[in-house]
Amino acid sequence: MSEQFDFDTRAVRAGTERTAFNEHSEALFLTSSFVFDSAAQAAARFAGSEPGYVYSRFSNPTVTMFERRLASLEGAEDCLATASGMAAIMATCLATLKTGDHVLCGANVFGATVQLFSTVLARFGVEVTYVRAADPGAWRAAVTPRTRLMYCETPSNPLMEIVDLADFAAVGRDSGALTIVDNCFCTPVLQRPLEYGVDAVIHSATKYLDGQGRVVGGAVLGSRALIRDQVLPVLRTTGPSLSPFNAWVLLKGLETLAVRMRAQCSSALQLAQWLEQQAGIARVHFPGLASHPQAALAARQQSLPGAVVAFELAGATPEEQRARAWRLIDGTKVMSITANLGDTRSTITHPATTTHGRLSAEARERAGITEGLVRIAVGLESIDDLKSDLAGALAG
Ligand SMILES: *Cc1c(COP(=O)(O)O)cnc(C)c1O
Repeated sequence: MSEQFDFDTRAVRAGTERTAFNEHSEALFLTSSFVFDSAAQAAARFAGSEPGYVYSRFSNPTVTMFERRLASLEGAEDCLATASGMAAIMATCLATLKTGDHVLCGANVFGATVQLFSTVLARFGVEVTYVRAADPGAWRAAVTPRTRLMYCETPSNPLMEIVDLADFAAVGRDSGALTIVDNCFCTPVLQRPLEYGVDAVIHSATKYLDGQGRVVGGAVLGSRALIRDQVLPVLRTTGPSLSPFNAWVLLKGLETLAVRMRAQCSSALQLAQWLEQQAGIARVHFPGLASHPQAALAARQQSLPGAVVAFELAGATPEEQRARAWRLIDGTKVMSITANLGDTRSTITHPATTTHGRLSAEARERAGITEGLVRIAVGLESIDDLKSDLAGALAG
């Protein structure tokens, strides 16, 4: 659908293709393969000289509709959907890296992404250096002539550190490294990294794009040359493609993405402001607060501050901080105790013992993941109920 239409219109309509039945809601093509009119047509499809569907590991009409809709929202030339967010990262790395290459990665990225670089890709002779992603000048200081790929998340999980996207893209451009942003926390509703000159965007569609905690999925977006010529051959050969059913669920997710994000971001801001006023809370991490050290940068590159709020419970010792954090989490009645995020239902988690539990105590300390830290991914419940839930738990 043409870019002359506004974002909200494209979110519900872009990419739709109708069959001969003229169905209104997108058709779900649960088929592994496609049939041909003749042996000659089969040969042409396999050779790629005739466009068309062949096999759902390569492409499928429901998956294509999801890819085109997401590409329209991110402002990308092209998009490939994958079985998960991690599959999108893996396929992009396999398509662009080789033995001897160097990767620069934000030190605060998703744990499985660190594992992918440090354990899996390291076995194939790819070297990785972790960068304090939000420090001005850190990327330029760490880049080397062998750096082929630069990878970051902004805002980061759970401390909401912001990477300056224009600077990140410029360092990649100057040094010939491919720049990739995991846009999971913002979604294209809040931030479109490609507009800053970043080369590729990764999504864990499992989070806000679905938005209702139903399916696992992912995507990679960028230029046609990167996506069609580099990533697609790897994806169709290695197999982590998105199932048509999940693509159909994600198409429905995209239709409500903008309204969900705006409502969840609004509640998150109110909750963050309220938390700052509560006794027993040492610090609130949220880019929409004036107290956030990078609030101005966040306001420049994000249309809204996001829907994840982290805060630290006060305590004289790490043991006391942990006890308070666990008591607060256990005292909530509305929120779900789970490490997932991006759901319509608010989730509450203790990063130090869950998402970041496998890090050494020193690594956690360096990353600022204290024992008192609690993360809330704000959902669509009434803000008054969320505040009362936390007020009761804080008092308990
Ligand atoms: C969840 C997540 C991923 C991984 O996505 P999966 O769909 O679980 O594979 C990657 N990056 C971020 C920021 C995430 O939150």
